[in-house]
Amino acid sequence: MPGKVTLVGAGPGDPGLLTRKGLEALQGAEVVVYDRLVSPAILALMPEHAEHINVGKQAARHPVPQEQINQILLDKALEGKNVVRLKGGDPFLFGRGGEELELLAQHGVAFEEVPGITSAIAAPAYGGIPVTHRDCCSSLHIVTGHQRAGKELDIDFDALVRTRGTLVFLMGVSALPQICAGLLAAGMDPATPAAVVERGTTPAQRRISAALAALPETAAQAGVESPAVIVVGGVCALAEQFDWFDRLPLKGQSVVVTRPKERAGTLSDRLRSLGAQVWEYPCIATVPLDPCPALDGAMERLGEYTWLVLTSPAGVDALWRWLADHGKDARYLGTVKLAAIGPGTDRELQKHGLKADYVPQVYDAAHLGAGLPAGGPVLILRAQEGSPALTAALAERNIGYDDVATYRTVYDNPRSGELRALVEGEGVTLVTFTSASTVKGFVSSVGEDADFSRMTGLCIGEQTAAEARKHGIPVKIAKAATMDALIDRIIEGV
Ligand code: SAH
Repeated sequence: MPGKVTLVGAGPGDPGLLTRKGLEALQGAEVVVYDRLVSPAILALMPEHAEHINVGKQAARHPVPQEQINQILLDKALEGKNVVRLKGGDPFLFGRGGEELELLAQHGVAFEEVPGITSAIAAPAYGGIPVTHRDCCSSLHIVTGHQRAGKELDIDFDALVRTRGTLVFLMGVSALPQICAGLLAAGMDPATPAAVVERGTTPAQRRISAALAALPETAAQAGVESPAVIVVGGVCALAEQFDWFDRLPLKGQSVVVTRPKERAGTLSDRLRSLGAQVWEYPCIATVPLDPCPALDGAMERLGEYTWLVLTSPAGVDALWRWLADHGKDARYLGTVKLAAIGPGTDRELQKHGLKADYVPQVYDAAHLGAGLPAGGPVLILRAQEGSPALTAALAERNIGYDDVATYRTVYDNPRSGELRALVEGEGVTLVTFTSASTVKGFVSSVGEDADFSRMTGLCIGEQTAAEARKHGIPVKIAKAATMDALIDRIIEGV
């Protein structure tokens, strides 16, 4: 059985602009063939087990010729694979999507196309430029500014100028002077508002605005590089008023998120939506202790405990894994009272239809131990390296407890070389630390000897900050141990 090829438009860069249908196709792919314009944030969504083939084209350097790309798609589909061909923007807009389908059609291979959000509209939009506006134009023209080596631009400037519509040029950075000269020679007003939007919809986006006659010089001074779209028309004047993206609070910040992979998502998404460049480098992973006789014993005697205390979402996961492995569900917990160290752990319980009976006012181990209502023995299910502050506080109050390790934390970052390069390249302004172990994991993957003094470690609490200070990382501390407070502290600090 031959497989199928799905041509997916990845959008212009912001991972939020990948369509739902595109994401579904990507997640189901066995082979992903992608090019240069697909942003790293979207590449990170590729399934790990899938085969990844980079056929990225660099300007004037074509590592994989088009015919060969077509052949790869055909071969993989004939092997029976579910292939996703991921392309920047929309596959059919100057994306050679049509060419890639021809060979498949000839061989009767099944294919689908998932349109993407094109940079021709989205890059101007993120630069504050609506491509049409009733007051200034009644048409939009998308033109390629690509010049074949040694050839003149093949653009009918007279026709374009006559439309009086908004003009968007793709692949036009190197031909910008000729494009502007062509429009002026065809009679366009030199004062016509114009703009270049570089790396649109990404955290590195820049908009350079100028009158048409001055645009080539202004863009050259700014050092504009591809990929960028050129926009010409009255709508460009609206940018000053509508430029929402550049005004986001974290625009220009480069943030490393160190949470374990399965928990990084929401923090990263929120930082991105505030304009930050986010790098996800999970520096720790949690590994369940299996077999875990201490857990088996404690769970069999669960009825003897008054409180079941959980200090992390990973602890809740371990509890549920035990229940599932023993053919049980939430009802097995019976009447034992539940305590959670903070709202994140409580939310994890709520996913299973339960709610913590006790959450301390300050979300840390010491406050949990000091504030837990007395009355009967306590079962703590947590990491092997759990904070002694919890058990010390219980002991001081003469409350009996069993402290059972259900998982351990490992410092494991297969991409540590990349992370070190990022830290040393001065790019990183902020690193988020959501536990002391994320600090240890970060330092061990970057290397103890690195210079951390130019970045700020945003810490969820005092214990985490103490660990960061040990390694010479300047810190800021969230007002409470929650993701919301962490994000507030980041916004406040910049
Ligand atoms: N199919 C793509 C366009 C491919 S042609 C789409 O629909 O967006 C490549 C050109 O697209 C680049 O030279 C540049 O002009 C434009 N482009 C792609 N991504 C861009 C981005 N993030 N910002 C600005 N321009 C971009």
